[in-house]
Amino acid sequence: MKILLAASEASPFVRTGGLGDVMGALPLALKRKKQDVAVVIPLYEDMKPEYRNNLQYIGNITVPLGWRNQYAGVFKSNYNGIDYYFIDNEFYFKRKGFYGHFDDGERFAFFSKAVLETMQVTKFYPDVLHCNDWQTGLIPLYLDCFYRYVDGYKTMKTVLTIHNIEFQGNMDKYVIDNVFGIPASHYAIAEYKHDANMLKAGIESSNRVVTVSPTYANEILDPYYSYGLDNILNARRYKLSGIVNGIDVDLYDPETDKALFANYNYKTYAKKAENKHGLQELFGLPKNDKPVLGMVTRLTTQKGIDLILGVIRDILSMDLQLVILGTGDWKYENALKEVAKQFPTKLATAIYFSADVASKIYAGSDIFLMPSKYEPCGLSQMIAMRYGTIPVVRETGGLKDTVPAFNPETKEGLGFTFKTYNAHDMLDAIRRALDCYYQPELWYKGVVKNAMSADFSWDKSAEQYLALYKSL
Ligand code: ADP
Repeated sequence: MKILLAASEASPFVRTGGLGDVMGALPLALKRKKQDVAVVIPLYEDMKPEYRNNLQYIGNITVPLGWRNQYAGVFKSNYNGIDYYFIDNEFYFKRKGFYGHFDDGERFAFFSKAVLETMQVTKFYPDVLHCNDWQTGLIPLYLDCFYRYVDGYKTMKTVLTIHNIEFQGNMDKYVIDNVFGIPASHYAIAEYKHDANMLKAGIESSNRVVTVSPTYANEILDPYYSYGLDNILNARRYKLSGIVNGIDVDLYDPETDKALFANYNYKTYAKKAENKHGLQELFGLPKNDKPVLGMVTRLTTQKGIDLILGVIRDILSMDLQLVILGTGDWKYENALKEVAKQFPTKLATAIYFSADVASKIYAGSDIFLMPSKYEPCGLSQMIAMRYGTIPVVRETGGLKDTVPAFNPETKEGLGFTFKTYNAHDMLDAIRRALDCYYQPELWYKGVVKNAMSADFSWDKSAEQYLALYKSL
C-alpha cells in the first residue's frame, strides 16, 4: 500500500515536540511492515544544516492558492530507506522558527495545497494520505474541492490524526475564501463559530479521524476536553478512533543510553542506585537512598503543575526528594524556583531543556510524576517505565491507556493512578506508590518487573494504523 504522511514537522529533520517524534517513528514502523511510505514536510530555513545541505532538488510547480499563484520547489532526502519530500517556498518558510507567525494560516494552507499539487512532480500518488494536526487540516478539503476528478487522486483516502485538540488553526473567517481559496460550495466546512478553523475542516472532510489514544478519542467528545469541538466530533463519531503512540525503544534504553551514570536492565536494576546518587550530586541534593520522585515536563496547566504546587509542602514533608526538569509558563517556573529555595535538601528544579538531564532523571528516580489535566497520549510516562521508574498518573487520555493501575494482590499493573483532577487524590496516589516502594520484594518483582517488560514499541501502533488504512 502507498502511504503519504503529511505534517508540519518530522524527526530527525525538524522536531519541536511529540508530532515530530511520531512522524519519525511511524513511517519506519510501517516500512518494516513492507509498506511503500513517504513523508512530506515544509522546507524550513531553520532545518538543521546537516540535513538541509544534503537535499536533492527534484522539480517545481506552481500552486494556485486563492487569487495567487505561488512557487513550490520539491526537494527529497532518503533517510533510513524512506523518501522525505520537502516543499520549498522562501516567502513562507525562509523565516526564523517554525510556527507562531502572523500568517501561519496562509503558510499552512499553501503547504496543504502544495502537498496535493506536488504529487505531479514526485509521481507519488498514495492510496492513503495521512494528515496530522491543523497545519494539514485543509488537505482533505482541497482534495474534495479541486482534485477528486483528476487522474491519480480519484480514489485517494484521507486520515487525520489529532495530536492535541487545543491547537485548531483558527483565525478570522475572511481568509476562507480570500486566502485559502475555498469555494462557496465548501465554505461552511472550513468555518466554525464565525471563524476559520483548519482542524475542523480536516475533521469534517477526512475519511477517518484518529487521536493518539482511545481514551482521548472518547474524552474529546466532552466539552471539558474538546476546546469547543465536541459537537462536531459527536456528529462525526462514526469515523473517530484512538491509537496510542509508541516510543523509540532503541533510543530510550537504560542498557545503552549514554547519558546515564550507569547502564542497567531489569536484572541489574540495583545499578539504578548509582544513577540516583549521580542525580543527587548533579543537583546538590544530599546523597542517600531515600526515594526520589522525578518530573520531566513542559511547565503548563495541561501537565497538572497546579496540583503539584497545591500540595508541594505535603509532598516535601515526606521522607523523599523531588527533582523537576521543565520549561514553560513563567508563573510555574518562578513558583517552583521559590519553593526549591525554601527546601534546598528536598526539591531541585532545572528550568531548561536538556535531553541529557532528562535521561538522568528517568534513570535516577524511583517514581515519575505526571498528574496531567489532559494528556492526548504522553511519551514521558512510557520512557519512565522503560527505565524502571514507576509512574504516578492521573487517569486521563493516553496516561489511562498506557498505565494500568498496579494491584498489589494480583501483582498486575504498571503504575499508581488517581481519577479526579484533585491535588489530594494525587497525594494519595503518591503515598500508595511509596508504600509499595518500601516493600522491596513487591516493588521489584511486581510493578518494576511489569513496567520494564512492557512493550511500548511502535510495532503494535503501526499495526493498528495499517489495519485502519486497509479498512478504507
Ligand atoms: P508533550 O509532547 O505534551 O510535551 P510528551 O510526554 O508527549 O509531552 O513528550 C514530552 C517529551 O519531551 C518527552 O520525551 C520528555 O522527556 C521531553 N521533555 C519535556 N520537557 C523537557 C525538558 N525540559 N528537557 C528535556 N526533555 C524534555
